[in-house]
Amino acid sequence: MLQTITHYSLHFLAPGLLAWLFFRPIWLKAWGLMLLSMAVDLDHLLASPVFAPNRCSIGFHPLHLWPSMLVYVGMLFIPKWWVKAIGTGLLFHMVTDFIDCLWMFTRCTGCCEESGIAWLCSWWLS
Ligand SMILES: [Zn+2]
Repeated sequence: MLQTITHYSLHFLAPGLLAWLFFRPIWLKAWGLMLLSMAVDLDHLLASPVFAPNRCSIGFHPLHLWPSMLVYVGMLFIPKWWVKAIGTGLLFHMVTDFIDCLWMFTRCTGCCEESGIAWLCSWWLS
């Protein structure tokens, strides 16, 4: 329950705070774009099964891979506010999903080792 509330607060409310901090004059538009960046989860539709409760998105779904994240970082350097807003939203989405993965790993034996970010298991679970 706490994990779910935290997850969705980070996905929906925290971007509002980021928009207010970094895009103050147009923060509502920026927040709206950040919320639209949630569409990045459409890449889950490529997986089978589409939803798996103990699967970590990071390092698994195509738009949640490191090369995709490099593109999102690159978006922060494009001199258009809306591109930066979407890039910020996408990167924060990845952070949120990453936190969710770490949380899930603490209660799911073997899930970390089977994830796309197995390289951090020895550090996180030690
Ligand atoms: Zn995601």
